[in-house]
Parts: sequence; structure tokens; C-alpha cells
Amino acid sequence: MHIEVINTGSELLLGTTQNTHGGWLGRELFRLGLRIARQVTVPDGEAIESALAESVKRSDIVIVTGGLGPTSDDVTREACAKVTGAELIEDEAALRCIEQFFAIRNKIMAPDNRKQAEVPVGADVLTNKNGTAPGIYLPARINQLHPCGIFLLPGPPRELYPLFFDEVEPRLRALAGVQSNQIMHEMKFTGVGESDFHQAIDAQLATIPGLEVGYCARIAEVDLRLIGDEEACMKGRAIAFEAFAEYLINENGASLEATVVDKLRSSNLTLALAESCTGGLISSRITDVPGSSDVFMEGYITYANEAKIRTLGVNPESLEKFGAVSAEVAREMAVGALQRSGADLAASITGIAGPGGGSPEKPVGTAWIAVACKNQPTIVTCIFQPRDRNGFKKAASQAALDQIRRAIG
Ligand code: ATP
Repeated sequence: MHIEVINTGSELLLGTTQNTHGGWLGRELFRLGLRIARQVTVPDGEAIESALAESVKRSDIVIVTGGLGPTSDDVTREACAKVTGAELIEDEAALRCIEQFFAIRNKIMAPDNRKQAEVPVGADVLTNKNGTAPGIYLPARINQLHPCGIFLLPGPPRELYPLFFDEVEPRLRALAGVQSNQIMHEMKFTGVGESDFHQAIDAQLATIPGLEVGYCARIAEVDLRLIGDEEACMKGRAIAFEAFAEYLINENGASLEATVVDKLRSSNLTLALAESCTGGLISSRITDVPGSSDVFMEGYITYANEAKIRTLGVNPESLEKFGAVSAEVAREMAVGALQRSGADLAASITGIAGPGGGSPEKPVGTAWIAVACKNQPTIVTCIFQPRDRNGFKKAASQAALDQIRRAIG
């Protein structure tokens, strides 16, 4: 089934609202065994009509989001009527629903809202329990102008999502008539690059019949996406696991920081952080995770040498002898954070973000990470991530979080 999605709204193209509908619909349709063949974002106004006119020619289903409101820039209904040649008529039941929506909120319906009850002749009205604009489904082949089904859905996510489940999904299931056996299995890795996967496992994965393999690489992180039937995906998973188990963060799509918080919570451990070159980024990422207060005790940003001495008890002689970016100072920072916070586990990082400050022995991009745990030897590792300043901070925070993940076990 060829499905196209048209997301409407000038705000999506001006960058003031992030277009989340494309991704959301892609995931939900995949769950039904369907894939979006093409997705386009158009501004409010005339562009909706031309995009729809193009899409209906090559699609079995077109889904349009947004532009069903009462204002003058909401013209999706009119565009659909023009493209399909179907006249717009006021739907009695839709009007009652809109009137009721206002009545139960003790509000008076503005005259402009009446246009939201207009639907193309022959269309189903899709009840919107969370807003005034009903959705519309115009089945295929009412005439030759649109030999495909057209869904017009409201823009606000809190209206779109329930309406999709209640009204769109059952219709798509009936139309597609398929029970997909396709699943998507995602594996998230860090500390290993996309090219490592290519060299180590791509040839083996290619021998699995019906398996679609995809990668998504970000800074210090790679997602491996396996699509196929359960057997094919599990065979692919086994190959990736055997080669890269050590680098596997999770298989549930969660972020590294969420995985770390989850592991700390299930191991009943608390965390403290001592950061220099990342300037609080690791603490920030940990506190991005809802419920992190269960496990995160405190974070120290000790940028200057004096701060490392005063706040964490780093030995001035170590700073003098080894330098601020050194295994010894990283170790003392982690141990200091562990002792001062009373946490079960403390991690530290000290490095050279650049662009200045590097040397032949310690080039820009070098960082030392230490993880100290109660009653256990402190583990110290060195990373080398020569990137721009922000890229370095992201990669360094990723490496530190990964060391914490590994220390928890
Ligand atoms: P309304 O009655 O609110 O005007 P509508 O169906 O006309 O509803 P739009 O006006 O296009 O929808 O969008 C309403 C709001 O919904 C937008 O301001 C935006 O916040 C959100 N929205 C619309 N489209 C998207 C999208 N593709 N991704 C994320 N949010 C969106």
C-alpha cells in the first residue's frame, strides 16, 4: 500500500514548531505493517492543494495533518474539495459535536467554527474528542479524480493521536487487509563506529533472507535497525550481539543517560559526578531523565585547579607533577567526589576541549575518565576525541556515561 503524508503548517517550515507528526505516524503505521512512501511539509494556503493533487495520483492513501481549524489560513478542507471535485456540505452530526464541545465547556461557539462542520460529500466524519475540528475520511474512487483514500486529520498532537487510534487505525487495518509479521528491532551502541559494523557484520547480515538493515550514527553512538520477521531479526541480533555485546547500551530505544539511571536504580546505587572539561554536561544529561533524583546525589564542576583542590581535595602536587589532564588527577577527583558526596559511585572527567591548550603528549581531544566505587579499585580510562568544542563535550560525556554503565555491570 503506497501511503503519502502531507504535514501542513507554515510554523513547521519557519522552525517555530518541530514537525513531530511525520515520525509519529511513521512509527504507528509501521506497527500496522505499513510504511510511509513519501512525506512532505507544506505551508498553509495554496501549497496544500498542489501537494494533495500530486499525492493522490500515485498513492493508495494520503494522510494530511493540520489546517482544519476555523481561521482563514486553515484551508485543508477546501483544498481537498478542489482536488477531489467533491462538494463541501455541512454535516449535521459534525455540527452537533462542535456545538456540544463548546456547550460542555460553557463557551459560546463563534460563527467561524461552523465551517469545521463542512465535509466533502461522501466522506466519513471522524469524531475528535479533544478538539473542535473533526477528522475526515474520503474513501477512494468516489470519482476518477482521487483513486485513493484521503484522511484529513487535526494538527494538535493531543487531538491527532487519539483520533488516529480510534478512527484511522481501524480503517487502515480494514483497507490493508494485512497482518504484518514484520517487526523492527533496534540496538543502540556506543564506543564503536558505523564502519566497524560494516566491516565486521554487514556481510553476515546480508545472508539473512528478508532482513532489512539500517544504521543511524550520531556523535559516539550508533543505532542498528533490523526490520524483518521475528526469526530474521533475531538472527541479525545474534550476529550483532556476538560481535559487539560489550558496546551495547540497550535494545529499547532509550538514551544512554536513561539507561544509566535505570541501571543505578535497579542496582540500588547512588551517583556523584566531578566534571571539568564537560562543564556540567554529564550532570545535565542525567537530570534530563525523569526520576533521576532517586539516584543522582550531586555534581561538582571544578574547572580551575584551585576548585579541584578546594572542592574535591585533589593533591596540589598531583596537579603540579602530572597536570590537570591526567589519570592521577581524574582518579583523585572521582575519589574526592565519592568521599564528599557519600554516593555509592562517583565518576570524574578532565580533558582538553580545545581549540587551544593541547600539546604533543596531550593533544586536543584527550580526556581522562575515572569511576570510583565504595570498596573497589578506581577505574581510569583515557579517550581521544579530537572534534570541535561542542562535539568533544558531547563525545566525552558519552564516554563517561558509558564508563558508569560498565561499572554498574
Ligand atoms: P486548530 O484548530 O488548532 O487550528 P488545525 O487542525 O488547523 O487545528 P494547525 O492549525 O495546523 O491544526 O495546527 C495546530 C497546532 O498543532 C500547531 O500550532 C502546532 O502546535 C501543532 N501541530 C500542527 N502540525 C504539527 C506537526 N506536524 N508536528 C507537531 N505539531 C504540530
